[in-house]
Amino acid sequence: MIEHVIPMTGNRPYPPRTSGFTKTFWDGIAEGRFQTTTCTDCQKTTFPPKPICPACMGANVEWKEISGRGTIYSYTIIHAAPSIFAHETPYAVGIVDTPERLRIGARLLIPQERLQVSMPVAVGRMEYEDGPFFGFVEAEGHGTK
Ligand SMILES: [Zn+2]
Repeated sequence: MIEHVIPMTGNRPYPPRTSGFTKTFWDGIAEGRFQTTTCTDCQKTTFPPKPICPACMGANVEWKEISGRGTIYSYTIIHAAPSIFAHETPYAVGIVDTPERLRIGARLLIPQERLQVSMPVAVGRMEYEDGPFFGFVEAEGHGTK
């Protein structure tokens, strides 16, 4: 479940190119579900969601909601961005390891001075004026001791 909502200004700089297949994912983001696909033949779960299993090449996949939790594996701060993202610099992107053994590349909506490898994070819905996107925020309870 997506518990965090992050207000953003303006429209999404690079809105998703939604297809018949990815519509399920983006509808889920809008409705608070973080989902991907699992192969019903070999049980491999991958992210982003795929209509064909990259492990066994089978086409029998099903949608499954995932925790949206994880820890930062690595990150970087973007200062020189493509022009469509320039107004959001500096911003952090990183790789998040999840309990489902997925490695997800995404925006990290965490103050630069707090970012650290292994930090617990949770998925959040970025609310732009033209629709949602997703990124990760610092997990609640982290660093409060
Ligand atoms: Zn498979």
